[in-house]
Amino acid sequence: MRDPLTKTGHVRVRGAREHNLKNVDLDIPRDALVVFTGVSGSGKSSLAFGTLYAEAQRRYLESVSPYARRLFHQMPVPEVDDIDGLPPAVALQQQRGTPTTRSSVGSVSTLSNSLRMLYSRAGDYPPGQELLYAESFSPNTAEGACPQCSGLGRVYDATEQSMVPDDSLTIRERAVAAWPPAWHGQNLRDILVTMGYDVDTPWRDLPKKDRDWILYTDETPTVPVYAGLTPEETRRALKRKETPSYQGTFSGARRYVLQTFANTESASMKKRVMRYMVSKECPLCQGRRLRQEALSVTFAGMDIMTLSRVPLERLAALLRPYAEGTAPKGKARADKHPEQLIVTQRIAADLCARLDTMLALGLGYLALERSTPTLSPGELQRLRLATQVRSNLFGVVYVLDEPSAGLHPADTEALLDALARLKAAGNSLFVVEHALDVIRHADWIVDVGPQAGEKGGQILYSGPPDGLRDVAGSHTRRYLFTDAQDAVRPPERTPREPAGWLRLEGVTRNNLHDLAVCFPLGVMTGVTGVSGSGKSTLVSQVLVDLVGAALGQGGADEETEEGMDLEREADIPTVGHIAGPMHGIRRLVRVDQKPIGRTPRSNLATYTGLFDQVRKLFAATPAAKKRRYDAGRFSFNVAKGRCEHCAGEGFVMVELLFLPSVYAPCPTCGGARYNADTLAIRYNDRNIADVLGMTVDEAHAFFADEEAVARPLSVLREVGLGYLRLGQSATELSGGEAQRIKLATELQRAGRGGTLYVLDEPTTGLHPLDADRLLAQLDRLVEAGNTVIMVEHTMRVVAACDWMIDIGPGAGEAGGKVMAEGPPAQVAKARGSRTAPYLRRFLS
Ligand code: ADP
Ligand code: ADP
Ligand code: ZN
Ligand code: ZN
Repeated sequence: MRDPLTKTGHVRVRGAREHNLKNVDLDIPRDALVVFTGVSGSGKSSLAFGTLYAEAQRRYLESVSPYARRLFHQMPVPEVDDIDGLPPAVALQQQRGTPTTRSSVGSVSTLSNSLRMLYSRAGDYPPGQELLYAESFSPNTAEGACPQCSGLGRVYDATEQSMVPDDSLTIRERAVAAWPPAWHGQNLRDILVTMGYDVDTPWRDLPKKDRDWILYTDETPTVPVYAGLTPEETRRALKRKETPSYQGTFSGARRYVLQTFANTESASMKKRVMRYMVSKECPLCQGRRLRQEALSVTFAGMDIMTLSRVPLERLAALLRPYAEGTAPKGKARADKHPEQLIVTQRIAADLCARLDTMLALGLGYLALERSTPTLSPGELQRLRLATQVRSNLFGVVYVLDEPSAGLHPADTEALLDALARLKAAGNSLFVVEHALDVIRHADWIVDVGPQAGEKGGQILYSGPPDGLRDVAGSHTRRYLFTDAQDAVRPPERTPREPAGWLRLEGVTRNNLHDLAVCFPLGVMTGVTGVSGSGKSTLVSQVLVDLVGAALGQGGADEETEEGMDLEREADIPTVGHIAGPMHGIRRLVRVDQKPIGRTPRSNLATYTGLFDQVRKLFAATPAAKKRRYDAGRFSFNVAKGRCEHCAGEGFVMVELLFLPSVYAPCPTCGGARYNADTLAIRYNDRNIADVLGMTVDEAHAFFADEEAVARPLSVLREVGLGYLRLGQSATELSGGEAQRIKLATELQRAGRGGTLYVLDEPTTGLHPLDADRLLAQLDRLVEAGNTVIMVEHTMRVVAACDWMIDIGPGAGEAGGKVMAEGPPAQVAKARGSRTAPYLRRFLS
């Protein structure tokens, strides 16, 4: 084989030191599919995103105006000596959590623009109506938006019920819960006192006239307020015309809620008032968001909003006859000018070509109107990828983060195809990936390792795939080359017998319709199926909702921090119930990849609780006792012991004029986070800041004699996190690392049993080696009498489960049924299951 490095140009990296990278040099080909592999935490992302992409972006931003620069989410300047031959880069990174901007499948893919053009130029207009511009078909423009709901499709209002949740309370007892809290709310109450309203009678016993005025009036009278006086005293003060404390202006509760909702810039205020609002479908447009003129224009018999709600697969089928010129030419159509037929055909053909790419990537079950915050990170990335494939860009490098995430093996072929098309168009592809199917298709592999964190950061191999076979230190090699002598083989195991069954009935949500399903208890279950078949709906929404409700715990939506989504209200709630007993399930725990905290104030040590023990040890030293330092003294979140200059953060924010702010080590404590007096206390010759700087491995050795500290540390080592530093902040941890920290925390309490653990694609971001470690941990949870249920795509992992539930056969409305269930060996034989053929290879 010809050396790809000489065939085309190449990218030359010298002295890369970002994060854990060990001053590495690297040469990789352009116009090729380069896959970065290695165990989690080895430094793949630091190389592909932190170094290569960050540098490409930095060079690009140097060429644009400072104003434009501010619009980018800029990455830090990478630690690297030199990079040559780097093309401009586009990153298609997985974004966890909700994207900040409100967008939809149609807007991200720009398909909505073409559809509007189609309606504007080639739609069927009612007789006498003038042609509309394309913008008139967008709910986001003044020309298009329904005047009653401003294009939202729903109207929001505040009612007595929503604003006064408990009408047995008096106004003084805050019956009007929607009013602002604290001083402002008290002020409104005092105004009512001045105006002679009764604030000490239960709300429901007040005259309707008074209740209506307080809630709904648009008047804003300004009256004297006598703060702190009783109603009786106020009356007298008014009569005597005493000088009031101040003049206060009243606002009705609804006015306050609606205005705050519309005008506030504070997300938490908005979220607060939303709790007191109700919404319903807009009566004017029936939720279709557009003006009547726009809705009266049809294509293929549908208005544009109705068409935006059909799955892409059906949309493509509807448009195809127009693209191919075979659509029936009805009377209206025949009357049209021939140019219009040409316009129809051209736009429809363009739409079909772009839709085909999306269908090929397994996105046919989505609709244009689906909002991006409701997509999984993998779906969003594939949507962006599909858009890029059609963009006709060339000469750029696409940097992707695990594009196979969320993909069933049956969908992976299409992904490889899309990548091949981008490459054929003259682009380079740098992909961080763990799926062996994808790695096998690489033109070039960069294997990073050998281990994670400080024990990684070296390039073990850089070259065509076959050469990796001879690299002894590579973990990837042992999974990739199954014929190698020391290849890792799937463990032989006998499935455990379920201890009981949890039966759900009448389940209806998204594409699940009146489904009945049984989950085995006391074993490990893998839920499989092509992407969009309904796995997450069943496990992460329905199961979590129903079991959560039965246990009185929060459901699926409870814990989302950005719970203020407008979409959420329109969400179809879970319909269904648990049939029969819960068989001793006492607790429900979701182990996901969400960050363990959003501020640098939480870290590994605080989250797992082991820092409490460490602080006690420091407080128990003779020196600390002498100075009367308690455990709180050793917390960087408490004023006593921390460095006050940085308030215990260890760094300070430096504002730059045109660039995003950067963090710099605190000049007072040099990053130690504590004040000098606290740092003077030593335990076995180390101060508290030294301990936070230790890796888990180091700390495990250091605290070997302290069971309460050593035990959680050994669990962290077992889940493969020995390389993390105790003080590493939550914001610097990857999703996979966060997940394993949660799991380690759970493993410490596993002894109790009776817990149901729910995981959604737990192996995302995990090298096969790490996935095996994860499995071993989950196995321990089951052995301790718990139940594990996970959505999973990796067949190696699924094959190791005790039980499987395969959902299908297809995606969206073509899915949502249980295709097969049973131990893996049995599911592997099931007919009609698209999972079975892939599973067979892992069951010998
Ligand atoms: P991989 O992509 O191979 O899983 P990463 O490149 O994400 O690995 O991480 C390599 C090492 O760098 C890990 O030890 C990780 O904890 C550390 N790391 C990652 N991001 C940061 C960061 N923002 N600051 C400091 N360390 C980081
Ligand atoms: P899987 O987990 O198997 O990939 P999902 O459960 O995510 O599948 O999706 C099943 C179906 O439900 C798909 O048609 C998907 O588009 C739809 N769906 C999922 N989440 C939502 C949502 N928040 N709003 C509307 N439709 C949704
Ligand atoms: Zn409307
Ligand atoms: Zn400081």
